Amino acid sequence: MRLEPTNIQQIGDELAIAWNDGKESFFNLETLRRACPCAACGGEPDVLGNVSRPKMSYTEKSFQLTGFDLVGGYALQPRWADGHSSGIYSFTYLRRLEEASQ
Ligand SMILES: [Zn+2]
Repeated sequence: MRLEPTNIQQIGDELAIAWNDGKESFFNLETLRRACPCAACGGEPDVLGNVSRPKMSYTEKSFQLTGFDLVGGYALQPRWADGHSSGIYSFTYLRRLEEASQ
């Protein structure tokens, strides 16, 4: 079965995602933004497990969500209030992110 969200909702400072396998995930918006996988933020660890991020400067708006798009049926692209929206979070990345934060 292909992993897909059946419902995505912002609840306060969390993004709640219901998946088609019956699981529900909750992401704190700040955690989600800090894990942004785009090239500028460099979210994912490299093969040696090091996370080397360029210095991103965040503001209060960086952790506010103005909306999101679904990309190609495999990923979520959040739009942040500071104008950043180049992060494409694949559904499998989101699930790994949630497992890592538990
Ligand atoms: Zn980013």
